[in-house]
Amino acid sequence: MDLTITTRRLELKHTWTIARGSANFKEYHYIALAHEGVRGYGEAAHNARYGESPESIGAFLEASKALLQSADPWQFYDLSKKFHAFGEGQYAAKAALDMALMDWITKKLALPLHRFWGLNQNKTPVTSYSIGLDRPEFMQQKIRDAVDLPILKIKLGSENDEAVMRAVREVTNRIVRVDANEGWKDRQEALKKIQWLKELNVEFVEQPLPVQRLDDVAWLRAHSPLPLIADEDVRTVRDIPALAQAYDGINIKIMKAGGLQEALRMIHVARAHGLKIMLGCMVESSLGITAAAHLSPLVDWADLDGNLLIKNDPYRGATVAQGRLILPDAPGIGVVEAPSRTF
Ligand code: MG
Repeated sequence: MDLTITTRRLELKHTWTIARGSANFKEYHYIALAHEGVRGYGEAAHNARYGESPESIGAFLEASKALLQSADPWQFYDLSKKFHAFGEGQYAAKAALDMALMDWITKKLALPLHRFWGLNQNKTPVTSYSIGLDRPEFMQQKIRDAVDLPILKIKLGSENDEAVMRAVREVTNRIVRVDANEGWKDRQEALKKIQWLKELNVEFVEQPLPVQRLDDVAWLRAHSPLPLIADEDVRTVRDIPALAQAYDGINIKIMKAGGLQEALRMIHVARAHGLKIMLGCMVESSLGITAAAHLSPLVDWADLDGNLLIKNDPYRGATVAQGRLILPDAPGIGVVEAPSRTF
């Protein structure tokens, strides 16, 4: 298989701010795997939180060319294991390779990815729509602009939590999910915030404490009136058994997991441990979002809004109707290049 690597800059509609930082654009690697006249596409939405940079992702992808030259794509299970064994970390690069591989396989079989997995496209969930941290009046405007999206995800974890939630509840009674992004410093503070959020009709709380404080999270769960969902604390299937003792659910992202196949394994293992499942994303184009959306009939909650946050999406794929994810019917992941005038 021949691997082509390019980079693209995704411009964000608004400055994206969460508890650990801000961004106005994302510069990601995109790949095409070509073999027997079919091209599979992949996106690597790297994240500095996990030790990834454009340089490290580019280097990993370049180095994987040799592995792919003689690889048999039909042995995609083994090939995915080889990506993972090829080097430490760099999960976004592994996700791009796995995405391109599964796109290639299902294009070759002329099946949409969800049909290949035997999934019902009518069972996709409603996605939440994330409102980044901003001045209260700007957050209120973003909420008003997102009138068609019935579930909001609000980023907390700064000293402005009260002002942020007051601003949100002034303008909407929609379902609100809260993501603290590791921003609360200890379990007492987290419990106080969660009890207060329960009064504000919040559905659940994601990653209330910094990672690797599972004893504190287990204590918090015993006292919390709201479900607790792991995000930064969970990455691949190996993390799941320990988390089941502390959390009610996990947020699976293909960029953290290192691909669609690993995400699917995580879904099965999480279910075996009685965990609820959210399928989340980074800021990603419609390529990565659509790839994940094909798995969404298997999960409880979707947070697949990364493409809605960018203004020059290079792809068209899954769409959202009244919040519900609509999967494309085309073979493979089913994305097409966006008209170039939108760049
Ligand atoms: Mg999160």
